[in-house]
Amino acid sequence: MLTMNHSLMSPNLNDRPKGQEIDMVVVHYTGMQSAKAALKRLCDPAAQVSAHYLIEENGNIYQLVPNEKRAWHAGVSYWMGQHNLNDCSIGIELVNPGHDYGYRPFEKKQMQAALELMRCLIQSYPIPARRIVGHSDIAPTRKIDPGELFDWAWLAQHGVGLWPSPIPLKQETKDFYNFASHALEKIGYQIISSDKKDLIPVIQAFQRRFRPKKVDGNLDQETITIINGMVSLLT
Ligand SMILES: [Zn+2]
Repeated sequence: MLTMNHSLMSPNLNDRPKGQEIDMVVVHYTGMQSAKAALKRLCDPAAQVSAHYLIEENGNIYQLVPNEKRAWHAGVSYWMGQHNLNDCSIGIELVNPGHDYGYRPFEKKQMQAALELMRCLIQSYPIPARRIVGHSDIAPTRKIDPGELFDWAWLAQHGVGLWPSPIPLKQETKDFYNFASHALEKIGYQIISSDKKDLIPVIQAFQRRFRPKKVDGNLDQETITIINGMVSLLT
């Protein structure tokens, strides 16, 4: 089913920590002007970056790093109490010029290939749905990829990852920032403090993923009910 191009390999890899399980997927966009430029960079020893897979807009999949090796895509990162997520994750790059070069919708064939690839990874490794994330989820102050046009809802409809239904908060909840900081931490995000200014990038990351039509970092009612819905999926 899944046809893979193995004609390019990245030298940018090392060993995973001894005994480390693969239990996470991190989705990225390339953010470069072309697939060719992205492949060149991901295979350039001087660039010191890589990913396990790159998916072109036409759905072609390149495997650049073997799954059992550690690729260099996540950088400084955090999810569910863990740092250094390159240790435990598979990195998937989707070709897209990104916000700097003309961000555009991901192609249907490209999404279909991403779905097939992730289904295959879920079957091969113990990857819980809540550990299929975007780069922006694990590095909210540094990264915005794969961005608000990546269709997480469609993936979840097809059995990959989580998609929450909104649930209203209990009446007695008054301090929304306090609620949101605890809830977002429970979901997996790194919370520095419940101060508004510290929470804004995290709220934006959450919205980019789960309320993509409006990514403004504002803790509005709709965002709160979606956060609440997400938490309820975890308990
Ligand atoms: Zn990225």
